[in-house]
Amino acid sequence: MRQSNTLVPTLRDDPSDAETASHRYMIRAGLIRPLVSGVYSYLPLGYRALRNVERIIREEMEKAGAIELLLPSLHPAELWQESGRWDEYGPELMRLADRHGRAFALGATHEEAITALVRDEVKSYKKLPLTLYQFQTKFRDERRPRFGLLRGREFLMKDAYSFDATPEGLDASYKRMYDAYEAALARCGLTFRAVEADSGSIGGTDTHEFVALSAVGEDTIAQCAGCGYAANVELAESAPEAAAPDTASSAPAGDRFPGGAIVETPGVRSIAQLSAFLGIEPKRIVKSIALLADGKPVVALVRGDRELNETKAKRLLAAANVEMMPEADIAGKLGSAAGFIGPVGLKAGVAIVADEEVRGMGGAVVGANEPGRHRVGVAADRDFRVDRYGDLRTAAPGDGCRRCGGEFRFHKGIEVGHVFKLGTKYSEPMRATFLDETGKPRPYWMGCYGIGVSRLLAAIVEQHHDEAGIVWPAEVAPYRVHLIQASARDAAQTELAERLYAGLRQTGISVLYDDRDERAGVKFADADLLGLPLRVTVGKRAADGVVECKPRTAAEPFELEAPELAAYVR
Ligand code: ATP
Ligand code: MG
Ligand code: MG
Ligand code: MG
Repeated sequence: MRQSNTLVPTLRDDPSDAETASHRYMIRAGLIRPLVSGVYSYLPLGYRALRNVERIIREEMEKAGAIELLLPSLHPAELWQESGRWDEYGPELMRLADRHGRAFALGATHEEAITALVRDEVKSYKKLPLTLYQFQTKFRDERRPRFGLLRGREFLMKDAYSFDATPEGLDASYKRMYDAYEAALARCGLTFRAVEADSGSIGGTDTHEFVALSAVGEDTIAQCAGCGYAANVELAESAPEAAAPDTASSAPAGDRFPGGAIVETPGVRSIAQLSAFLGIEPKRIVKSIALLADGKPVVALVRGDRELNETKAKRLLAAANVEMMPEADIAGKLGSAAGFIGPVGLKAGVAIVADEEVRGMGGAVVGANEPGRHRVGVAADRDFRVDRYGDLRTAAPGDGCRRCGGEFRFHKGIEVGHVFKLGTKYSEPMRATFLDETGKPRPYWMGCYGIGVSRLLAAIVEQHHDEAGIVWPAEVAPYRVHLIQASARDAAQTELAERLYAGLRQTGISVLYDDRDERAGVKFADADLLGLPLRVTVGKRAADGVVECKPRTAAEPFELEAPELAAYVR
């Protein structure tokens, strides 16, 4: 591709709102542009890289025996009502109405759509097992879309769904997908861990996340230095040894939490879970706050609650003699803006008043001040008395691994993939059955498997860049070679560059040819920013048939006779 002919709008300066390397560089290298918060256009080079990631995943899916199809994005509300998720999913589900007022959702995920399809089309055990997958745009009205492609409201996902006749069959299908994910992510040049995960709102029992290690990740994983066992911290905390009730820490809470009972819980990530473990109806988890840190009320976080707005909250807090901390500070402390409780050691108590994410019902969560330990309280009335609370215990430095007693190491990471054994969670309520050997109807044993393709692309950039720009792994790079003609007006250079451009393409090597009439310095800076694996410069020695090669990862260039180039690149 001639650079003069395509659209690569590179920028010298960092965009002001970009907090992560991938966000900065993908904008600056002209790979993506925002349309509105969390919604991006893929420009020609960004789209090529995205398609490379897609190709790698597709190849691994096919190797694993999965079959590609494409489901709709527009789903009738009835479909989501069948599974119960129309109510459960909350405001992340984008909802709309047609001209007759009939309710629809934009697909955030496709368990319902695929179950409905397979229910109607696959009736016999003889057709099982079956694993179907698609690449598709997903829509999620994320509370905080951010970090460019890492958390979008419209993003590309590869999602696969397996259908089996038996739990053992599901185990085998799950294993095939798990292995395919490992292979695909390795080919993408990613450093990642497959970790035990919490099944969250999708449900199901067995589940793993594939987490790309990165300081900007919103997840924290604990990995055992002894046996390698790894889990996300929400799960690690539910390990029996790590969740011993901590009666001592209830003492300072005494008068602040009258009548409170200690309840153990795995990670609380939603009001639904909070309500389940506290045994309080979500409706009764009032918009209120509760605080505790070293026995003192300290901090409150109020997120855009419709009724309890910040001003009102501040007034209430002041009346309760509680100091308010800006959301930004607390989000940082919590480490996870998405989860209610971050796995970090808090120096202060934190209360979170939930917002529309929990459908406007609100709630209060209190974090105490020890690493790996959080106090959770729920205020069920407005004199700020927390009537129930419990301790959360996350894995903390010094904890023993539940497998071998080894020590945990903690890493920040980006969830790029997620595999679940769903069992019959969807097939039962949706009455999706097949006939077994004896002619009896049985629900399918299902699994679902997602990779965020666009997020993965950004995660690759997070792991592969330097101060000058992106450093693409070979399989993902938009082009293999960046051919640069130092001076567009030099006839000998034009002649050699044109010859190399044609020759490389003939041998099947993808080339971006910088034929623009720009200064060489500008072209080199762009080349570093774009990060293609090999820069080939046709410059001063063009008349001698000599070019300068510089792998993006090398510090210094070297010279090569032009005829040797194709062989070198291969
Ligand atoms: P997160 O915890 O980051 O919100 P999730 O657990 O909600 O992600 P899943 O429902 O497991 O996501 O979806 C499968 C995959 O889709 C995730 O592993 C991730 O790679 C990707 N994904 C999810 N949400 C987004 C998003 N808002 N933007 C980009 N990719 C996403
Ligand atoms: Mg999510
Ligand atoms: Mg997640
Ligand atoms: Mg997930």
